[in-house]
Amino acid sequence: MAKKQNQKIVKCSFCGRDGSEVGSMIAGPDVYICDICIGSSVDILKNNLAAYNTSKSQNFSLQTPEVIKKTLDEYVIGQERAKKVLSVAVYNHYKRIHSKTSFFELDDVEIEKSNILLIGPTGVGKTLLAQTLAKILEVPFAIADATTLTEAGYVGDDVETVLVHLLQASDYNLERAQKGIVYIDEIDKIARKSESTSITRDVSGEGVQQALLKILEGTVAGVPPKGGRKHPEQSLININTKNILFIVGGAFEGIDKIIAARINKNQVGFSSDPLKGKNESDDILKYIQPEDLLRYGLIPELIGRIPVVAPLHQLSEEALKNILTVPKNAILKQYKKLFMMEGIELEFDPFAIDMIVKKAMERKTGARALRSIVEEFMLDVMYNIPGKENIEKCIITGDVIESGAEPVFLEADRKSA
Ligand code: ADP
Repeated sequence: MAKKQNQKIVKCSFCGRDGSEVGSMIAGPDVYICDICIGSSVDILKNNLAAYNTSKSQNFSLQTPEVIKKTLDEYVIGQERAKKVLSVAVYNHYKRIHSKTSFFELDDVEIEKSNILLIGPTGVGKTLLAQTLAKILEVPFAIADATTLTEAGYVGDDVETVLVHLLQASDYNLERAQKGIVYIDEIDKIARKSESTSITRDVSGEGVQQALLKILEGTVAGVPPKGGRKHPEQSLININTKNILFIVGGAFEGIDKIIAARINKNQVGFSSDPLKGKNESDDILKYIQPEDLLRYGLIPELIGRIPVVAPLHQLSEEALKNILTVPKNAILKQYKKLFMMEGIELEFDPFAIDMIVKKAMERKTGARALRSIVEEFMLDVMYNIPGKENIEKCIITGDVIESGAEPVFLEADRKSA
């Protein structure tokens, strides 16, 4: 090894130092390497590895906002602005997470987490957007309902249960769970009832907001692995929520009036009115400001933790029609596939589609109504069809939906005739 052999002066094949100048020397067949060169080699390899990891973390298949939006388009009809806002916010969020392992951490600028608020009426795609995003990004996803959450110590679910669902969605892979997306619905229902701070404690509203605040801003939360209430003897899993993206959603019914009142007040003395001809609540939503959410009853700290607001609007007849037929997993496509498995071609005539949309508009629950309307009339059709023989095609006409008439069935020979 490091000793001179048979009087021969051993020199490092890399730097040329002889054995007397170095601590140790390693011999290979006709070559030697000294400890100094080994040290330098280790440093070089370490640097290369770090550079490799950096580029790998930046190359994490982070799609650009444009690509994210395009994929969202395949599943979610309309809601262009919300899709755009979400794509950018989500892109920044994951860029922020992946920059942690690179040279970006060397400067002092820390990019803060941008949780997102989706605001819009029921059944217009808030949950669908959050869910689809998680699917696109291949991260675990969990949904929670703010109305079932209570402060620790009260009857109901601890706020941490949301994290348990996320852990379950990631098959208890803690690292994956810590980069997941949580959607909390009905956040507007935990608004405190009056804007002025009340002396009595508001269990259902403000307390839950306070509890949510902690996990939204980033904390290490101990959660019982199987959910339920924590109790002292239980072993807890510690989840760091710093990199979990929280998307909260709510209808915020009546907030349009708060926005309009604020704008009109600020407009006194000005001649132009930005709301002129735009008094629909949909249009007003895009002028939303944090102070409107405060007035609605969200606590300022929570508002501060949800800096990105994406308004969603009511769906038009055209949008409902597209929802029925266009997305990858559109309801009518699903039924067509079910029938195809029976060897039957299913067709909806355009009048039938118009009728479904008309009924859905009347129910005022957005696209949520579509599925239940379709399920209502398809139940009878699907109940009867396996008993019928020789059917090759089934046509759903407007009358099936309007008056419960039988669909038109074409038998194999008649169709080919
Ligand atoms: P909410 O806004 O109340 O969260 P959801 O996202 O749960 O509404 O929508 C309910 C269902 O309606 C979804 O499962 C989806 O099938 C359909 N839907 C709602 N909005 C859209 C949309 N913009 N594009 C496509 N489907 C939609």
